[in-house]
Amino acid sequence: MKREKAIIQEIMSKTKCLVLDMDGTIYLSEAPIGDMVNTLNLCREKGIQIYFFTNNSSKTRDEYVKKLQRINLFDERDTVYTSAMATVSYINANYPDKTVYAVATDPVKRTLAESGLRLVEENADIVLLAYDTTLTFEKLKKANEMIVRGAVYIATHPDTVCPTDDIYMPDVGSFIKLLEASSGGRLPDAVIGKPNSLAGTEIMRATGLHSHEITMVGDRLHTDILFGINSGFNTVLVLSGESTEEDLQKSPVKPTFVFNDLNEITEYLTR
Ligand SMILES: [Mg+2]
Repeated sequence: MKREKAIIQEIMSKTKCLVLDMDGTIYLSEAPIGDMVNTLNLCREKGIQIYFFTNNSSKTRDEYVKKLQRINLFDERDTVYTSAMATVSYINANYPDKTVYAVATDPVKRTLAESGLRLVEENADIVLLAYDTTLTFEKLKKANEMIVRGAVYIATHPDTVCPTDDIYMPDVGSFIKLLEASSGGRLPDAVIGKPNSLAGTEIMRATGLHSHEITMVGDRLHTDILFGINSGFNTVLVLSGESTEEDLQKSPVKPTFVFNDLNEITEYLTR
């Protein structure tokens, strides 16, 4: 046990950025988990950068900042990062100056334009598929036409459903299946969000850090932890959300280490 503690301390002493999943990791719907306010403050005091990272591309950064502020978990030094922001960074790096047709909510579209994407409504070079909770037939028809004509096709994340307290809602992964059927089999050229490493590459680009200086913390093995592993980050599974000890035993996806919840990190912040 002592040896394990030393290993965790060693990893934490090298960690310059914590990438945090949100629901199930730092809060449960509107309630911070345990003394998360102080835990995050302690991490900041130790000079660790905090990235709140979500696959949900239906909301803007500011909408998440407001929610985090409401429950006292946000500090001006922190970054909220969505799969839509990672997608912008990916497009700017790999397809500079190309035109983009974005299937996205209006607030997200505004942030895409502000981030430098050249949004157009016709004949785009790239179709960007985000979690558009205002999706219409017209938008699907346009996206399908451009995809069939050969536009580069990029999706923000692969989740097929978005969890709710009731019946789960269709998410981007389900839109991908619809467009696959309508386009004669076309799949995205790139899917950016968790568990794929493309978002990890964009986080390294944004922070200027190496993979071994970043630790990913999350409550889901097949999205959060697999994302961290695919990106070369250290990973912490927290048992405060979806995954149980039993899920971990059965899963081929193994985190670097496991905490009951993120507040346990305070025991290992020694520097
Ligand atoms: Mg979660």
